[in-house]
Amino acid sequence: MKIIQDIYICILTNVCNNMSFPSVALPATQLTTLGIDASVNIHYQLSVEQLIEDTICTGEGMLSNNGALVVNTGQFTGRSPKDRFIIKDQTTSDTVFWNDFNIPMAEKYFHIIREKIQSYLSSKEELWVRDCFACADERYRISIRVVNEKPWMNLFASNMFLRPAEEDLENFVPGWVIFCAPGLKLDPAVCGTRQSNAAVISFKYKTILLAGTGYTGEIKKGMFSVLNYLLPQRNVLSMHCSANMGAKGDTALFFGLSGTGKTTLSADPNRMLIGDDEHGWTNHGIFNFEGGCYAKTIDLSEEKEPDIFNAIRPGALVENTPFFPGTNKIDFSNRAITENTRVSYPLDFIRNAAQPAIGNIPDHIFFLTCDAYGVLPPISKLSKAQAMYQFISGYTAKVAGTEAGINEPKSTFSACFGAPFLPLHPGKYAAMLGDKIEKHQVQVWMINTGWSGGAYGTGHRIKLAYTRAMISAVLEGKLDGITFDTHPVFNMQMPVSCPGVPDSILNPAAAWTDKTAYDAAANRLAEQFINNFEKYAAGVSSEILAAAPVMNTQ
Ligand code: ATP
Ligand code: MN
Repeated sequence: MKIIQDIYICILTNVCNNMSFPSVALPATQLTTLGIDASVNIHYQLSVEQLIEDTICTGEGMLSNNGALVVNTGQFTGRSPKDRFIIKDQTTSDTVFWNDFNIPMAEKYFHIIREKIQSYLSSKEELWVRDCFACADERYRISIRVVNEKPWMNLFASNMFLRPAEEDLENFVPGWVIFCAPGLKLDPAVCGTRQSNAAVISFKYKTILLAGTGYTGEIKKGMFSVLNYLLPQRNVLSMHCSANMGAKGDTALFFGLSGTGKTTLSADPNRMLIGDDEHGWTNHGIFNFEGGCYAKTIDLSEEKEPDIFNAIRPGALVENTPFFPGTNKIDFSNRAITENTRVSYPLDFIRNAAQPAIGNIPDHIFFLTCDAYGVLPPISKLSKAQAMYQFISGYTAKVAGTEAGINEPKSTFSACFGAPFLPLHPGKYAAMLGDKIEKHQVQVWMINTGWSGGAYGTGHRIKLAYTRAMISAVLEGKLDGITFDTHPVFNMQMPVSCPGVPDSILNPAAAWTDKTAYDAAANRLAEQFINNFEKYAAGVSSEILAAAPVMNTQ
């Protein structure tokens, strides 16, 4: 295996050369500003190949047969929303919408945790530091300095944020600093945390503290949460969505919670990829916050998702995905570590990525839901009021876990399809989206990427090829002359036919063999929507309220 690794390092040295970063030293004064001891050896702005080498040398990663770096993120293989805190201070106390996701923390704990992280990182022989940006639209650009205990987490930052040009580094002033200390365990009694790990955001000190977790997604979603607070104040709608653009510059957005298909469906060989997860909508158009993608890899296949499959190459960072025994070939079906296996790669690893990652005002918006109850139509057209109702509801239903005995779908309602990342009241984002949909006459569609013909267990997941065909049909105007039926409970408009999709699945009731069971399931889901919406009822217009599903009582 050692020989194989050496061979790949050789290959990498050649392949990665064009990805190299300039070697610039971080001035010592900058280090003391960070509170890190001057004795630590700082690897600043290393090239991708150097980071890969450092990871392999520290025994923390292996190269796959296609040259991607494969690592384990440790105890945490997903985000830990219950351990995400926002420092409650003069600016945030009245502006942040404090809830189960925006958990307040007193400022004194910020100082305690930051000091713990600084002294922990100062005890290390070496650290990896990287300067980068967020926001492809330069008017909103934010400079970020990421300080890492692990070289592969530094590679994640390089893949996911915007990579600065050499001249950008000369006078780089970090607007925000992200400290990552996965090996540091916090004492909750001292640090005001729930347990030994925490993600802490301070808007006053423009700092994100990550301790006790090696899950890289905390880095990107931490910064996303920051932008979701800052950008609406500058009249930019921040959104948890993917985006792509056709040859004529026509842009589409895909909102959806985790696992609903944002990354998968935005990678479309016929359209330019703008981004797979986080975007802003200005008065002029849309822009990506990030410089890379973070794709799920569970059951990834070249046949179904060729663009993502081919992005797994030198420079890509694959997480928590085992090899086939005795080889360095990735086993994408292996769930031994987690279901949430991932890969990060720079945006331009996707063949037709937009450069810069900016697009026009969207023509179409898709709300993606993975409805494991098999109730919602695979595609439906929403009125403006229905769109607002669905956006505020933010519905999906997953199959809960893979533990023995648990195979019931479980619904999630997450406002604006992203409540864990939204520091402001969801009404703020919803109002901005409503205004933009109205002003630009944007058509909104609901796409169920989940079950058809029955709930999980009876029915089956809608084929990816069909979902892609439905989206293409909309974007190519092929549903324009088609007849639509109204769903009896949810009232959205369902096309009776769609190129590339069997008619029989377009009306969900028709796809179920037991129609009475379908009606009962639709009513049960409607009831969940109605109950969930109660908390918003007082704050929305009667028009939006009237877009609620109507339970069929006969
Ligand atoms: P996250 O916010 O966590 O990044 P995401 O919305 O980007 O989530 P994807 O990474 O696109 O979600 O995951 C969708 C998963 O569902 C993929 O693994 C994809 O292969 C699978 N899938 C199966 N059937 C479909 C379908 N009909 N449409 C979309 N995705 C499907
Ligand atoms: Mn994604």
